[in-house]
Amino acid sequence: MGEPGIVIVGAGFAGIGMAIKLKQAGYHDFVVLEKGDDLGGTWRDNTYPGCACDVPSHLYSYSFELNPDWSRMFAPQEEIWEYLRGCASRYGVLPHIRYGARVASMEYDERALRWRVELDGGGVLKPRAVVSGIGALHVPSYPDVPGRDAFRGTAFHSARWDHSADLAGKRIAVIGTGASAAQFVPRIAPLAGHLTVFQRTPPWVQAKPDFAFSPAARRALRLPGAARALRWLIYAAMESRALGFTVHPSLMKAHERMARRHLESQVADPELRRALTPDYTIGCKRVIISSDYYPALTRENVSLVTGGVKEIRQRSVVDASGTEHEADVIIYGTGFKVTEALQELDIVGRGGVKLREAWRDGIEAYLGVTTTGFPNLFFLLGPNTGLGHNSVVLMIESQVHYVMECLRLLSRTRATALDVRPEAQREFNRKLHARLDPLVWNAGGCSSWYLDEHGVNRTIWPGFTFEYWARTRKVKPGDYELIR
Ligand SMILES: Cc1cc2nc3c(=O)[nH]c(=O)nc-3n(C[C@H](O)[C@H](O)[C@H](O)COP(=O)(O)OP(=O)(O)OC[C@H]3O[C@@H](n4cnc5c(N)ncnc54)[C@H](O)[C@@H]3O)c2cc1C
Repeated sequence: MGEPGIVIVGAGFAGIGMAIKLKQAGYHDFVVLEKGDDLGGTWRDNTYPGCACDVPSHLYSYSFELNPDWSRMFAPQEEIWEYLRGCASRYGVLPHIRYGARVASMEYDERALRWRVELDGGGVLKPRAVVSGIGALHVPSYPDVPGRDAFRGTAFHSARWDHSADLAGKRIAVIGTGASAAQFVPRIAPLAGHLTVFQRTPPWVQAKPDFAFSPAARRALRLPGAARALRWLIYAAMESRALGFTVHPSLMKAHERMARRHLESQVADPELRRALTPDYTIGCKRVIISSDYYPALTRENVSLVTGGVKEIRQRSVVDASGTEHEADVIIYGTGFKVTEALQELDIVGRGGVKLREAWRDGIEAYLGVTTTGFPNLFFLLGPNTGLGHNSVVLMIESQVHYVMECLRLLSRTRATALDVRPEAQREFNRKLHARLDPLVWNAGGCSSWYLDEHGVNRTIWPGFTFEYWARTRKVKPGDYELIR
């Protein structure tokens, strides 16, 4: 087999979406390199009890592959995983995927105008273009707490759930209160002997309008246009939330009132309520969507410890006040290394410049997709294209379209590669960060994984999704150097 024209790294929503669109456009000389042994990314890795999306499934799916058969408003993990596998199969992408193929490094060969993609274990591919779909919420993050390795019981991260661990009757310590913990705590609380939840900062929580679709509702959704109409309705409702996020934090007040009412209706104990009330503007951190998290915390066998964790010992977790809590099991619900996942990539571009060097002050790209000095390298869900208010699949689809437009520009102009001009990237990012500065993620009074170690927001798109959609419709040739 000859060299593939295009390498896609990662077989999650992004990589599979890219592969489908390539296939539909008549490109067949591409390969998807996936380090895991199955596709699905997030939805393959996160198998913890209660794992589900928190954007309604009719929107958290590809626009070109609606699924009238979602069992619930917020489908569980297995169903989303199955959906992705079904898409890959239906669109003929499966033969293009190589499993167990971890990309270890990439280097641009300026003479051959090809990337040299090296795999763990030695294989090398030399494509013209590379599309990274490696995901942002992918590398588990553990808290930097002394003694973590000393623990003698069972310990695992929510994204690497240990299904062999017997939780029945055990003293379980859950560290972290983010989106994953809010989903698995209600599921494991009834099993535990005692469950201690260690909270550093309380999240804002809104009720989850979840329900199962009846067989009749699913039949109705199969009628022409019905699933599409529901998707639009959900989209409009979700996108209206962007007003508070992208215009001014004061517009978040209504959301905050709703979340406060939710807390008051579910937690009667004033002390617990106080401990669960955030002191920052809603939206600054990811808002949790859950109707069963607070009730789980009010159970007899569950306690909430505030202030975080100071130390881990052989059989216990020590809280910030120095109190020791004995534990048989520790579950880390401490999220992911978000910006590091991209930063740690071992990529060398033009002039031998390392991506890590180019990004020493922080990750940045043009429209989140291309970065100067790295021709024909495209990022899906790259810097500043995550969302706080809506489905990231919308962003992925816009980016996939943009990459296709770049490929079309290359074939139209008979160029081999394109490299974004530094001034275009600089100007884009100057405006982006000026917009982000007064917004809730930066000015909401919290620290979150949206910000990098310097406190700069490198993850979030500060506008509406339709604005991003409009800006990724066409490639402006003037923004790129075309290399022949
Ligand atoms: C529990 C959970 C729930 C979520 N719920 C929502 C939601 O409701 N709505 C929403 O919008 N978003 C949600 N997200 C965000 C979610 O990550 C994205 O929606 C989406 O799944 C990202 O897809 P992706 O393809 O970009 O990345 P991923 O799904 O992470 O896939 C990346 C793939 O790349 C592979 N890979 C990585 N590095 C390499 C390498 N070097 N070589 C080869 N392969 C590699 C990985 O193995 C993986 O399969 C959720 C995230 C989590 C963790």
